Formats: sequence, structure tokens, C-alpha cells
Amino acid sequence: MAKEELECSFCGRKKPDTNLLIAGLDAHICDRCIEQAHGIVVEESKQSGNSELSDELMLRKPLQIKQFLDEYIIGQDMTKKVMSVAVYNHYKRLLQSPSKDDIEIQKSNIMMVGQTGTGKTLMAKTIAKMLNVPLAIVDATVLTEAGYVGEDVESILTRLLQAADYNLEKAERGIVFIDEIDKIARKSDNPSITRDVSGEGVQQALLKLLEGTVVNVPPKGGRKHPDQKFIEVNTENILFIAGGAFDGIERHISKRLNMQAVGYSASKSDEVIDQNHLLQYIIPKDLKDFGLIPEIIGRLPVLTYMDPLDAKTLRAILTQPKNAIIKQYEKLFEMDDIDFHITDGALDFIVEKAIEYKLGARGLRSLCEEILTDAMFELPSSESKELKVTKTYAENKLNKTIIKKLKAVS
Ligand code: ADP
Repeated sequence: MAKEELECSFCGRKKPDTNLLIAGLDAHICDRCIEQAHGIVVEESKQSGNSELSDELMLRKPLQIKQFLDEYIIGQDMTKKVMSVAVYNHYKRLLQSPSKDDIEIQKSNIMMVGQTGTGKTLMAKTIAKMLNVPLAIVDATVLTEAGYVGEDVESILTRLLQAADYNLEKAERGIVFIDEIDKIARKSDNPSITRDVSGEGVQQALLKLLEGTVVNVPPKGGRKHPDQKFIEVNTENILFIAGGAFDGIERHISKRLNMQAVGYSASKSDEVIDQNHLLQYIIPKDLKDFGLIPEIIGRLPVLTYMDPLDAKTLRAILTQPKNAIIKQYEKLFEMDDIDFHITDGALDFIVEKAIEYKLGARGLRSLCEEILTDAMFELPSSESKELKVTKTYAENKLNKTIIKKLKAVS
């Protein structure tokens, strides 16, 4: 066939009438048809994506949500239960047909209080994974009121859009995890002394987002400026989960509990308060005393806490979750046909060190790396196809790296 005669096999346009004509085995396609076809693909996947979402949501009851969380997260039973119900209710709200009886189910945004490294982010990630919805993780400390140096609160939605590959519909059903929410607490108890740029202003700016509103979002992030195109994002169905360590909040809880104890009859005050674990008694008022404004607290109505991780939990985190650290190493070694085995003694030793260095669960991974790096470097090109990590082996490797680091400092 002569070149001039080439035409698009879909629309019949001749080559000179197209910008681009791509050849297949027995056919050609022009740029316009490609664009149209792409549009159809996007539309189709949007639709199937949504029905997948609703199918999935209909299938999982709170009990099953908790079971899913159990596979990835050790302990934190109370929070898992509270989260399962909140998430179930939130998505039930999304799937409800327009109400005939004027009963509108309100959002169940969640507030998680607990020390750093106790699994707050992991909880949000696991829920997003289960629901197959996009997740944006943002740090409240970088947020500022509009007009100040830092990121506007809208940047949160830019992240969510990015996580959803700019699929607006998906983003509008996504999850936002706002970490370190305690860092935007009001610093002073008297709100009128000075304007508190990083604190109360940001809380005010967040309010609209949490409640549900349409926000103009700069798709590429950065500052708003007049000629940038915006995407309108409706936050009504976005689930917000906020987390923070709230260092020192125990003081407020303890003070309140003591006051209550005084006011109560003798039989009530007999109930033993677990002084070492005061977080479990947290109520919204404690957040207010800490410096969050009542409106924010009201828009994060599900309040829950994370237990600190003890040795037993850390030990379980190493081996039990579906993608436990040790399972990951087993897989890595297996890919090189290396039989990897680690003894109970070595595992206990790693936990002991994580506690000694106050590293929490985050430290488990770095300790494992330090212990296993030599083996991961040498074994793939060695004859030996077996690695047994005992406590002595772990101790030696760790001492070696620590000594090296000490030498580097001195
Ligand atoms: P936080 O957000 O509370 O600071 P993260 O969720 O980032 O803590 O936890 C840090 C890491 O520690 C996680 O990636 C996970 O590997 C591990 N981890 C923490 N808590 C748990 C837990 N309860 N179960 C399983 N892994 C955990």
C-alpha cells in the first residue's frame, strides 16, 4: 500500500488528516481515536473501581474489619474495635441512598492518641489497604494558616489527589491521616494574647476540611496563585484520621480523675485507676485542656488511644504480622536459595536492644539490618546456602557496627 493511502482503521481518517498514525499488525490508529479510547478506558475503570469499592464494603462487617487489622497489627485491641466500627459506619454512610427520612449520618472522623511508633500510621495504612482507597499521610507541623510560610491546609488534598492518580472520584472517598495533630495545639491557655500562627489558626483552617466542604485545590501543590487551574474537591466523604502523641496529656487526665474521685461516693472511687496507663481514660475534655479547640474535637468524634509497646508486643511484631520484618528477610534470602533461620534467643536479644535504646518498633528494623547486612552482602555469592542467626551471632554483628560508629565519632 502506498504511504498516502494509509488511514485510521477506526475512524477512517487519512494519514494527512491526523497528527499521528500508529501502525499495528494489520491496522492503524490515529491520535484522536487513541484519546477517545483512553477516555473510555478511564471511564470504565472508574465505574468498575467504584463497584469494587461498594462490593468490598458491603462484604466486610466490623468483625471482619478487625480480623483484617489483626493480620497486620499486633495488640491495640480497643483501637482496632473502635476503628472497625467507625470505618464501617463511615462507608455505610457513603453507600446509603438519599435519605427519605431526613436522618443524615454524620462523619466518623477519628482521633488516635498514643506515643510515637505504636502503630497509628500503620493502622491508617492498613485500613486504606483493606478498602483499596487512596491514602494521604500529612504532617500537621508543616501546615500553616493561609498567607504564612509553610503549606496551606489545601495541600493535604493535593496529596490525596496524587495518591489517587488524580482520579477525583477516588480521592473524594479516600482517607487522610494527619499525623502530629498535637503539635498544632494552642500553646497558651489564653487565646487572646497573641495570634498563634502555627496553632489555632491551622486548627481553624482544618475545620472546614474535616466537616465537609468543596475546596479549590491546586493540583500540583504549592501556593495558590491566580492563574493556576484548580480542582474542586469535595471533602464530605473523605475519612480523616488524626494522630498524635500528646506528650504530657496524662497530667490532664490524672488531674481530672483525681477531681472526679473526690466528688464521687466512696464506692466509686474504690475503682482502681491504672496510674501507669492513664491514656485509656482519655475523654474529649482532656484534648481541650491540652490545647485543641472544641470545634476540632467535635469534628473528630471517635476518640481512641494506642497502648505503649511492651517487650511481648515488640517480640510479636518481629514475627507475627502478615508482612513481619523477619518474614521479609526470610523471603529476601529465599530468593537467593538461602535457608535463613533465627533463634528465639536472637529475637529476644533484638527486642531487648530496641527497648534499651528506646527505639520502639521502628528500631526493630534498623537493628535487624545491622545484624544481617554482612550476611546479605556475602551469602548471595558464596557457596554456603544456610544462615543461622543465634544470640551470639547477633551480639557480635551489633557490637561490630556499634564499635565502628563509636570509632567514627571519636
Ligand atoms: P506511629 O504512627 O504511631 O508513630 P507507626 O505506625 O509509624 O507509628 O509505626 C512504626 C512501625 O512500627 C510500623 O511500620 C510497624 O512496622 C511497627 N509497628 C508499630 N506498632 C505496631 C503494631 N502494633 N503491630 C505491628 N507493627 C507495629
